[in-house]
Amino acid sequence: MITLKEALTLSKDELNKFKDDLKKKIEANPTLNAYIDVKNVGEGVPIAIKDNIQVKSWSVTSASNILQGYIAPYNATVINKLTEAGLSPFGRVNMDEFAMGSTTESSFYGKTLNPINPEYVPGGSSGGSAAAVGAGLAIAALGSDTGGSIRQPAAFCGIVGMKPTYGRVSRYGLGAYASSLDQIGPLTQNVEDAAILYDIISGSCEKDSTNANKDDKVTPSLNADRKLRIAVLPKYLESANQDVKDAYAKAIEALKAQGHTIVEHEMKDSKFDISAYYITATAEATTNLARYDGIRYGNRVTGKNLEDTFTQTRSNGFGDEVKRRIMLGNFVLSSGYYEAYYVKAQKTRHIIKDNYAKIFEDVDLILSPVAPTVAPKFGELATPMDMYLSDIYTISVNLAGLPGLSLPVMKNADGMPVGLQLIANAYDEQTLFDGSLSLERELNYQK
Ligand code: GLN
Repeated sequence: MITLKEALTLSKDELNKFKDDLKKKIEANPTLNAYIDVKNVGEGVPIAIKDNIQVKSWSVTSASNILQGYIAPYNATVINKLTEAGLSPFGRVNMDEFAMGSTTESSFYGKTLNPINPEYVPGGSSGGSAAAVGAGLAIAALGSDTGGSIRQPAAFCGIVGMKPTYGRVSRYGLGAYASSLDQIGPLTQNVEDAAILYDIISGSCEKDSTNANKDDKVTPSLNADRKLRIAVLPKYLESANQDVKDAYAKAIEALKAQGHTIVEHEMKDSKFDISAYYITATAEATTNLARYDGIRYGNRVTGKNLEDTFTQTRSNGFGDEVKRRIMLGNFVLSSGYYEAYYVKAQKTRHIIKDNYAKIFEDVDLILSPVAPTVAPKFGELATPMDMYLSDIYTISVNLAGLPGLSLPVMKNADGMPVGLQLIANAYDEQTLFDGSLSLERELNYQK
């Protein structure tokens, strides 16, 4: 598959031919189930779009039954930015329902398979985005990351996935999961393409009040030769399996070979990350999902009266994982438990943020696992709790609002990719991409 950088140099005729061929290739590979729908919107370089990002006049459903039939009335800001830069939405890609999950199994459209080996999950929630790029069925894709949903599927499918600093990319037109954590970001074949796509979609937006309104770009000064101080976290690795530990050791050697300085640090209290995240995320999700009542959006099941219509619409429209989170979110926000859970989670979030800030007083980047293992096989994560625990390495980055980039480091004995992430200080995407580019160059990962 050609890279995004190459695609941006194609003539109009070459591009149209490429898009015709791509459509045929996607249609010839239906079992992967990465795409929900393929449609050419506009003239530009084709980009696959996660099903929670609005493209005007196109169905957008967050892979949920409750939004079947809903057509986006306007473009998300990222879509306008893509179009202005000569790119265009090409296909809708699969995801976990409302971006809640780590395997893409909770989609209304059925599961997506891992392109490396169909017995394994592609990761989630942006599993369709990662599988499409990993399978050579997309040049690049957009996903969203609330607690790892770009970085983790990228790692499981052997590609690059990047979550920007909170506020860098407009959330206007993104189906909200947890508003204080959500960020849209790129999933690409390599680090340079991620930088290009990040530059295109990031920047000011007056329609998103949490936007940082920063318009600085990384590609003009991308520099893989900068020598950086990079923190490694030996104790943090205890929850990771041998594949991940091997990849970590390999990445440290590669970073040293590139002339970076490695320093040991510790993340305190990482066992509290999961609790703080699942309380915060479900509380916000409960609030955000209250709008799906069958009156204003998508599917309606008409009941005996208004209240019954709400109940039946929501009982019928939401899947099990989404219902579980709505219940959990309501519980932690209820008056008797608010202080005990929600307030405590916010305090924990501050501690996590401070912990990162302390490390960044000394270093430019942190090297961390993305997940404790490679992609699990379908059915391997037996309970919801097993799935939540597998998010241990990604969620603190969202809680602290930091940028992170996941890239493939090696393959394990079964041929499955092992990815790691670099994490940078807030708004320091330049260093994140510079360091990632140098790591990628040294590793020379072969698909
Ligand atoms: N797996 C996490 C969750 O289910 C992260 C999801 C995401 O980043 N959208 O909440």
